[in-house]
Amino acid sequence: MAEYDVIVVGAGNAALAASVSACENGAEKVLVLEKAPKNMRGGNTHWSGGVFRFAFDDARDLEPLLPGIEDQYPNFYDGVTPYPYDDFMGDLMRVTGGQTDPELSDILISNSRDTVMWMHGTGKIPMEPAVGLSGVDKDGVIQWQRGLVVRAEHEGVGLSTAWFATAEAVGVEIRYDSAATELIQDSKGWVSGVKVRGPDGVEEITAKAVVLGAGGFEANTQMRAQHLGAPLDQAKVRGTPHNQGDGLRMALDIGAMPWGQWSGCHSTPISADWGQFAPRELTDKSNRLSYLYGVMINRLGLRFLDEGFDVQFLTYAKYGRIILNQPGGMAFQFFDQKTVDLLEPRYSTSEPIVADTLEELISKLDIDDKDQALQTFNQYNAAACDPGGFDPSKKDRLSTSGLDIEKTNWAVRLDDPPFHAYSVTGGITFTFGGLKIDADAQVIGTDWRPIPGLYTCGEMVGGLFHDNYGAGSGLVSGATFGRIAGRSAAQIEM
Ligand SMILES: Cc1cc2nc3c(=O)[nH]c(=O)nc-3n(C[C@H](O)[C@H](O)[C@H](O)COP(=O)(O)OP(=O)(O)OC[C@H]3O[C@@H](n4cnc5c(N)ncnc54)[C@H](O)[C@@H]3O)c2cc1C
Repeated sequence: MAEYDVIVVGAGNAALAASVSACENGAEKVLVLEKAPKNMRGGNTHWSGGVFRFAFDDARDLEPLLPGIEDQYPNFYDGVTPYPYDDFMGDLMRVTGGQTDPELSDILISNSRDTVMWMHGTGKIPMEPAVGLSGVDKDGVIQWQRGLVVRAEHEGVGLSTAWFATAEAVGVEIRYDSAATELIQDSKGWVSGVKVRGPDGVEEITAKAVVLGAGGFEANTQMRAQHLGAPLDQAKVRGTPHNQGDGLRMALDIGAMPWGQWSGCHSTPISADWGQFAPRELTDKSNRLSYLYGVMINRLGLRFLDEGFDVQFLTYAKYGRIILNQPGGMAFQFFDQKTVDLLEPRYSTSEPIVADTLEELISKLDIDDKDQALQTFNQYNAAACDPGGFDPSKKDRLSTSGLDIEKTNWAVRLDDPPFHAYSVTGGITFTFGGLKIDADAQVIGTDWRPIPGLYTCGEMVGGLFHDNYGAGSGLVSGATFGRIAGRSAAQIEM
């Protein structure tokens, strides 16, 4: 007789969604194992911005999530553009170069709105508009980036806190300082429990089904070196230090199939001032994502990417890796007075370097070829546009003309002092490689057959993201597949 109906490994968004869904679908005894101590609980979910990307056909579809929002923001819905299934799918296909798994991406997108409604209703997660992040004020109305309007109240901290409260309220047992180390199988190959290293030592705990929601391997330097290669092995970690690839290793050990891009990860421009691991209290404030309104150069004084290729939330997840591949693994973002007011509020967690001329600003920075840097700005300014027509609320098509690497939107001259510079590097957020699952979130083995009793969700699911990612997809994917995994695990027939 198993001790639990369902054991869930991990306590982030995906795992806690799975635990609540398991209870909702009839499981009576559900155990969550959290490797971290209580004061570090919640995985990357705690660190996250709490923003949700989901499909909807009408701006008013958001009303149940944001009751009374027009009292605070009159004309709120005038700035919200619908984001139907095809547009979400189009964005996901575009950012992944067509590599997203067709079955999983369809499940994610077709369930995305219902998932967020379920998080709000059953999960009891309060929501708010993602002000200061995704919206730009234009003539008194906030214009929202498509599909990226809603976040959990108080961002990832609020999301994580609400999930723990709901899981506890529905009767989920949570053990902290309890790392799953191994999956147990019975003689028929059913996953029948886990080995755990808890506060009092090692023990085996049995269950009818196990859901793995233990995150990726982004905090594990050896696995980063092995799968992502240099320089990502040395990248600063943006989230929890506890996602060490344990769940992936345990599943691969019993024959689970690796799936998706194991050499790929979510890596974003972050402040170069941050340490090897992001401080928990500063959550996601390391990001430096307003580069689309400025110009980025490396230590050789050269531009190396199109800062204005697209809105930041469709480019940021790949630009970190490109920055890491520059000399010294760093770069500098430059802005002038036309755009400093547009910088995301999180830039305030570091001090800009300021000067009245570009030459003086360059002289203050750790740039190896300062003459080249000045030449780069002179060439950029000669190829850039007048500010008339500059529109930060959408791709404005103000492009440079004649540069080796054009800036294809928001390319206005940098000529309004004082100038501000920020030093940036690439931080790693999470890894894209994971396990193969079916539509029930059941893990598939290398023999292409489901492994009975084993389910997974969240960052551990492979195949959705490749090279790049659209902001807000991770949490919605985690809750979508977590909800499915919990339901499947609860309804398992032995
Ligand atoms: C700074 C930052 C900002 C982000 N912002 C957003 C955003 O705004 N929107 C968005 O959609 N996504 C965002 N993301 C990504 C998002 O946070 C992740 O996609 C999501 O949290 C993953 O959820 P998860 O449940 O799979 O993993 P996690 O939330 O990381 O949870 C993994 C859990 O597993 C536990 N664990 C690990 N190993 C073991 C073990 N052996 N035994 C027991 N437990 C174990 C960990 O302690 C943790 O509790 C952000 C990420 C970061 C780091």
